[in-house]
Amino acid sequence: MVLMIVLVIFPSILTKKKISKIIDNEQTISEEQEPKEEIVKYDYSKYATIKLLHTKTNEIEELPIDEYLYGVVSGEMPATYEMEALKAQAIVARTYTLYQIMNSKGKHQDSDICDNSNCCQAWISKEDRLNRWDEDVRNSNWDKITNAVDSTQGKIITYNNAPIDAFFHSNSGGITETATNVWGGSNFPYLKIVETAGEDGYEQYSSEVELSKDELINKLKEKHPEVQMNFDEGNCIEIKEYTDSGRVKTIKFGNIEIAGTEARTLFGLKSTNFSFEINENTIKFKVIGYGHGVGMSQTGADSMAKNGSNFEQIIMHFYDGVQITYINDL
Ligand SMILES: [Zn+2]
Repeated sequence: MVLMIVLVIFPSILTKKKISKIIDNEQTISEEQEPKEEIVKYDYSKYATIKLLHTKTNEIEELPIDEYLYGVVSGEMPATYEMEALKAQAIVARTYTLYQIMNSKGKHQDSDICDNSNCCQAWISKEDRLNRWDEDVRNSNWDKITNAVDSTQGKIITYNNAPIDAFFHSNSGGITETATNVWGGSNFPYLKIVETAGEDGYEQYSSEVELSKDELINKLKEKHPEVQMNFDEGNCIEIKEYTDSGRVKTIKFGNIEIAGTEARTLFGLKSTNFSFEINENTIKFKVIGYGHGVGMSQTGADSMAKNGSNFEQIIMHFYDGVQITYINDL
């Protein structure tokens, strides 16, 4: 029995735990050892390649889907994040890509997807990616990214046997948002409001934007020339309604009311989860979270992974009632 424990359980613990090396009998250096991911070659009979539009040059490049995903994962998530978070990101990005191929005909005429994160999802070439990393972590970072993609080959997220619209964002501020509250329209059944612990431990969690009163009025006037504001009135700026996740749904500025999403764009706020204070000469917005808040939070994924969740648990947390299946099963 003891032998069994030693032979079976011990090695599996050792491969995952930090391994300490003792050097010169004095110094103890702790070094993180990534568990080696098992890579089983997946034979893509469907959707093996992707036509990627390079928005700067207008060129279209045809790439094997996973090679394309190396550039997406490394463009969208820091390589320092946990392996399970990177794997979740790889599957989310593969799903997002497939959804674009299957549902967005006409968005880009002769290509499937573009490299602009404001339109589709970020993509960075291997050369540019390596150049932006310090030399001492260059190869290990790249190995980690390719490992996350290769160890999840073919895997996608589906709902009713179709790829989901796998929205993701940087930091949910601890609670995600529905698609309806951001873009209107009907919600997707798998995009529910969920809470995630540990998001406040990341730099993306809180930020501030301070504008002078004139700047604020000028920005409002660009879109709403009729706006009139009298800062002597107590409720000159007033949040009128919050969404179920606690984000600003509508906010009043003087004689107009605008959506929280519009305020976010106008004032360059990182999210719609904000409060404000009116000072003598300025308005200060205090913002929680980063991004639209819909779907998977990247820092939330990393936080969950740090607390022991694997990529399946992370995906099931952020997308309700989904399945992880394979492209060829579609
Ligand atoms: Zn695009």
